[in-house]
Amino acid sequence: MSLRIEIDRGRCTGHGRCYMLEPELFDVDDDGLPIVLAEDAGPFRDGAVHAAGNCPERAITLRDEASADR
Ligand code: SF4
Repeated sequence: MSLRIEIDRGRCTGHGRCYMLEPELFDVDDDGLPIVLAEDAGPFRDGAVHAAGNCPERAITLRDEASADR
């Protein structure tokens, strides 16, 4: 099972809590908005849950996906 991180850029206000808390999962673009670094965040599940739970705007969604490697 892989884990996809999605950011709703319409909700995100760009204050940066996600990329300060979990820099292995998020970076920041030139507009100050986060970008997701990990295509599959499965190995970093705890960090992804931590970031999503600490986003004040509830802009981070986590989706479990079946692995496509079969
Ligand atoms: S914590 Fe949430 S609102 Fe703040 S920059 Fe990250 S995604 Fe955007």
